[in-house]
Amino acid sequence: MKHLQQTLFNLYIEIRKFIINIIFLTKNTLLVIMPGCCAFGCSNRSENGFILKVFPTDKVRRALWASKVKRDKWKPTNNSYLCENN
Ligand SMILES: [Zn+2]
Repeated sequence: MKHLQQTLFNLYIEIRKFIINIIFLTKNTLLVIMPGCCAFGCSNRSENGFILKVFPTDKVRRALWASKVKRDKWKPTNNSYLCENN
């Protein structure tokens, strides 16, 4: 009987770890889905109702966008976003 209790307890711990992992993963995913604006001094985020657009892959347009960010030595990545105000 004691052995069974131990097994159940271990199972409980494993399930808890599993649930915590799922919550953590969901949080990370939400952060990716709900990006913030990368422009200097701008903290607009998509969850606050702003429309954020990912940087274009086209070099010329990308450079134009990067100039609006007004950050020194900053380079846009494929995960960089700019809000509609910039
Ligand atoms: Zn912005």
